[in-house]
Amino acid sequence: MAKPKRAALLLRISFRKPETDDPDDEQRPEFSKGIGRQEEDGRALAKRLGWTITKVIPEDDTSAFKRRKIQLPDGTTALRTVRPGFRSALEALASGECDGLIADDLDRVARDPRDLEDLIDVVEASRPRIPVESVTGSLRLANDADITVARIMCAVANKSSRDTARRVARKHEQLAEEGKWGGGGFRGYGFDRVGHQPIEAEAKILSEIGARILGDWSGWTAEQRAKIDPRVGESLNSIAADLAKRKVPTVTGTTWKGRTVGSVITKPSVAGLRAHRKEIVGPAAWPAIIPRERWELICARVASRAGNTDLTLQRWLTGALKCPLCQHMLTGSHGRNGTRYWCNTRAGGCGKIAIKAEPAEAEVERQVLELLSKPDVLVRLRRVVATEATDEARKELAEDEEQLQQLAGLWARKELSFGEYTEARRIIEKRVKESRALITSSAPRILRVLLAGDVAAGWSQLRPAEKRDVLLALVPGYYVQPFDRKQPRKFGGDRLQVITD
Ligand SMILES: [Zn+2]
Repeated sequence: MAKPKRAALLLRISFRKPETDDPDDEQRPEFSKGIGRQEEDGRALAKRLGWTITKVIPEDDTSAFKRRKIQLPDGTTALRTVRPGFRSALEALASGECDGLIADDLDRVARDPRDLEDLIDVVEASRPRIPVESVTGSLRLANDADITVARIMCAVANKSSRDTARRVARKHEQLAEEGKWGGGGFRGYGFDRVGHQPIEAEAKILSEIGARILGDWSGWTAEQRAKIDPRVGESLNSIAADLAKRKVPTVTGTTWKGRTVGSVITKPSVAGLRAHRKEIVGPAAWPAIIPRERWELICARVASRAGNTDLTLQRWLTGALKCPLCQHMLTGSHGRNGTRYWCNTRAGGCGKIAIKAEPAEAEVERQVLELLSKPDVLVRLRRVVATEATDEARKELAEDEEQLQQLAGLWARKELSFGEYTEARRIIEKRVKESRALITSSAPRILRVLLAGDVAAGWSQLRPAEKRDVLLALVPGYYVQPFDRKQPRKFGGDRLQVITD
């Protein structure tokens, strides 16, 4: 391949700490690597590759998260992050003014996956492809495999900023919901609807369910107890059958099923926590029926059981593959041609997308292992793992939560102004959310095990549900593109596309 004679060198000045949702941090400049240093590195790489640089494009990254309508190289318009430097590099490549691109690192070229897609479009539009290189080696778009890896890397890099954006959105929702019982419908089992005061009879049942799951219930007969392995506890179905036999009423009047038992006991309200959209957002105004630490153990047991007995999870991509036509998740199903993931019509899907299960799993597995072999991905993951909540963090969390409650009391008694209250709460809640996300997520624990030794060997020992957790810690999931009729025999790995927004 001819070496670029008119390459562009893209340099990015970063003024922003990427992993923060604190608006006050915006003004704090942070130069991870000076622009002079980047230019030196870029020129050294060009020399090594035998390229000639004719254009140096500095990019001021201060407005990295503002979006505006802009014109794409093909003439259409779209909403993109404002990045005049990156855009002018794209135009130089599209027009032929430049015939190659060097950047410091993938993060700098494309934090927004849409930017990466625009770059891929320009690179692929020319024959041969326009060569792209980066100093860190993380960005190469020479073939389909490079592009897939670049997409995944970009999704990984992007995940932290998207998580931040989600946290901020959640905070607003939370303020709006403040003090309200989450959602209408039936009241939660164990509490009355008006004051959220525990209903004694139901609270007793909840404690009983928890004890039976944890294997330390005092209500079993000696004969029953002999059958229970305290490390496993009693099964949800068996508990449900007993509650039904005893005619213990449910909230809705239906009979107890294993699923009902699992659902009432894992509600955060049981531990005195408030949830919003299934995520814990703070301490509740009502008391806990089961102490939080004990409740977390119960939830862990219920979750690990689901992992063992739910056969759909044998197909570990369940929950990671999405239909691009109707946005439903694909589920594992057995058909005439073997096992496949399908946009199941019985689950409300369109039925039009399916992919063979085993080759799809092998392809995703290959991509995950490739990703896990990259030093910078490992560094990023290790950072996640290293910040996993310790007992110390748990203690801090408890203190912070108590402080939040005291603050609310101070405000209610008008000992604080609303401004003082919200400001103080903002600071504490930020800490609380960070610790809680770490405590409740299972991904760090699994990742820690995985990163402790040989990654490939560790991966092969993971249970299906754990593989999925690791995968989803890396990428948001995959779209399964429609089947290519021109190549009916071949399994097209490129049908799997990392979801980027
Ligand atoms: Zn569909």
